[in-house]
Amino acid sequence: MKVFKFGGASVRDAVGVKNLVSVLKEVGYDKTIVVVSAMGKTTNALEKILDNYFNDSKKTIDGLVQLKQYHIQIVKNLFGNDSFEIEETINKLFEELSGFLNSNKSPNYSFVYDQVVSIGELLSSKIVHAFMKFSGLENYWLDSRKCIKTDDYYRAANLDWELTSQNIKNGLKGHSLAVTQGFIGSNSNNFTTTLGREGSDYSAAIFAYVLNASSLTIWKDVPGVLNGDPRVFKKTKLLKKISYREAIELAFYGASVIHPKTLQPLQRKEIPLFVKSFENPKNEGTVVLKGKNLDPFVPCYILKKNQVLLRLSTIDFSFIVEENISYIFRLLHEYQMTVELIQNSAISFSVCINNKYDKLDELLLILRAKFNVEVNDGVDLFTVRHFNQEASNFIQNIGKPILLEQRTEETAQFII
Ligand code: ADP
Ligand code: ASP
Ligand code: MG
Repeated sequence: MKVFKFGGASVRDAVGVKNLVSVLKEVGYDKTIVVVSAMGKTTNALEKILDNYFNDSKKTIDGLVQLKQYHIQIVKNLFGNDSFEIEETINKLFEELSGFLNSNKSPNYSFVYDQVVSIGELLSSKIVHAFMKFSGLENYWLDSRKCIKTDDYYRAANLDWELTSQNIKNGLKGHSLAVTQGFIGSNSNNFTTTLGREGSDYSAAIFAYVLNASSLTIWKDVPGVLNGDPRVFKKTKLLKKISYREAIELAFYGASVIHPKTLQPLQRKEIPLFVKSFENPKNEGTVVLKGKNLDPFVPCYILKKNQVLLRLSTIDFSFIVEENISYIFRLLHEYQMTVELIQNSAISFSVCINNKYDKLDELLLILRAKFNVEVNDGVDLFTVRHFNQEASNFIQNIGKPILLEQRTEETAQFII
């Protein structure tokens, strides 16, 4: 078996879905499972719909109408006069969603989130399944909620590997070409759960792991993994080969081309991961496998924008010791701050955090009772793997003051 994953960008419109079929025809689709994400920016749109729903806004319905229209337009472009059946499927999914929203009494945002946002992947997989069939590629539509079993941790559910493994094997028996959804699963009560934003790569890795796949290919709008996000860095180079370990490091520091959880399952079974361009499927792209850490060996750049740098010192200028640090970390955890970097000196403790859940003001209120706190909001965190002279020149040329710098043998980080 081999596993293919097509992300939102690759199926954002009818041209993308047609291209998906062309890719399959070009590279072969025997014993293949195709994992798809929601189309284009559907997940973001669903998050907005949900916020309006929780704020009792009339915009909820407008959002639903627009999103349905977006999908209907895609199938009209794909199927022409033969779109009736798939339009019915789309209508039904939206009816179910409206039914859920009208009857829902749960105030649990995360629970409701998963029930609502999961429709994105259901829609895209139904459309892709139907269009593959329409194009002569007989295939099986697999409901990944029946396979991927998780705990109740809505929005970032944890996998039950044993149950999932049995279900996937049973679910795919006798099917040599299947289409399923990334990102979604279900818990023991059969409520839908999700694996975290951008989690489709991870779903694909789960399928690959369980099926002992020969490879996983993630089809992207870039030629492969580059040594920097081309939206941010000019003159990027294609990384032809990356070791699992190096890829894990890159993903950990924020190279958003691969979801960080994707790599561990693949590494455990040494399943190669290909990252390839869906526009040029025959090009080699990148392969992640066991071996030499990077080819070509060049510095890799990662930018995380809009971070917060806190510098703490004790009010009485006493030393920052373990007790203070453990107290600070407890608070960071409580206020759901992701810690990106720390640096400690005798009387000050600096920490760069990601204020993902907008809880900085609350956190500062508590911290300021015990510490002097200097805040630098909206800073950029540059991480460079395999720092060299070229990277040093690059950082200097940004032309903005470096607020904090930290280096190990392999990784340099700069807060700017
Ligand atoms: P999808 O969700 O469609 O699978 P993503 O948008 O999540 O795809 O990932 C592809 C994007 O990742 C690219 O368009 C690119 O801007 C970004 N990206 C970030 N870092 C890198 C990198 N090191 N190499 C290539 N692309 C990168
Ligand atoms: N559709 C989900 C998201 O946008 C999952 C994914 O695309 O990987 O986060
Ligand atoms: Mg993505």
